[in-house]
Amino acid sequence: QELKVHIPLKSGLFGRKYSFVKAIDGVDFSIYENETFGLVGESGCGKSTTGKAIMRLIDPTSGKVSFEGKDISRLSRKEMRNVYKDIQLIFQDPYASLNPRKTAGDIIEEPMIINTTMSPEERKYRVQELLEVVGLNAYHSTRYPHEFSGGQRQRIGIARALALNPKLLIADEAVSALDVSVQSQVLNLLRQLQHERGLTYLFISHDLSVVKHISDRIGVMYLGRIVEQGSKKSIYKNPLHPYTQALLSAAPSINRTNERERIVLMGDLPNPINPPKGCPFHPRCFAKKTECESASPQFRNVGDEHYVACHLYN
Ligand code: SF4
Ligand code: MG
Repeated sequence: QELKVHIPLKSGLFGRKYSFVKAIDGVDFSIYENETFGLVGESGCGKSTTGKAIMRLIDPTSGKVSFEGKDISRLSRKEMRNVYKDIQLIFQDPYASLNPRKTAGDIIEEPMIINTTMSPEERKYRVQELLEVVGLNAYHSTRYPHEFSGGQRQRIGIARALALNPKLLIADEAVSALDVSVQSQVLNLLRQLQHERGLTYLFISHDLSVVKHISDRIGVMYLGRIVEQGSKKSIYKNPLHPYTQALLSAAPSINRTNERERIVLMGDLPNPINPPKGCPFHPRCFAKKTECESASPQFRNVGDEHYVACHLYN
């Protein structure tokens, strides 16, 4: 709720002045059990920071992260260990996140060594089981990361994330580094695992076609805020925020039902150190009104749990 991460930056001649990068500036959303919440936006909009703030890899400046009704945003590192059993992260680049000197088996086993009292035999058995769950084989456990393809490495990353039987998986650009055909295999695996295990996903991606494939509800982020949120259907069929409309119009789609004209956004993502006044999107907005330059639009429910922060819908 109202989650903020402001990162202090030294600036000025002698590094005495501080300014803040508003990496995320009041992000507010809920993820329901057993659903996939897709968080989408251009790179640098604060999606990853949001995921990291939930995992407490970054400490939020203010605001609250609740997990199963409990505020976890002020827990100590030690107390967070219990939470890590329930919340796990899947990274974008499994090659960078898997230790090249460890075998797949060791990589998957590690969280069990750190967080459980399982015996070595129990852990070995569980590793084999997890390899099969993600579509690999027991004999893969003695292989090293470089011996696997990108898709297989992401499966190892998923097996490792599942080792402690988490409830929530945060996937940050989890398939972005993969070829399109491999992407859909990994996405299908994630969906299947969700069904079988009742998992909940926060799925972070800049790629609208990927988010569309997997999400139940979607939040669109711009400059550290969620500017629109709703069910997948309402976001894709009836995008309200001019930014969402622009993103969707630029996304390639094979069989688009209602062909939209491509909207080209003016300018680049503004500097988050000094975000624009009023609506943060106004310098790039094709629909702006005079009030947009001074008044910040409220995030409001326009019906059917569809929320938007834009003066066009007052
Ligand atoms: Fe555009 Fe104004 Fe809506 Fe912002 S509030 S998105 S500037 S119309
Ligand atoms: Mg990112």
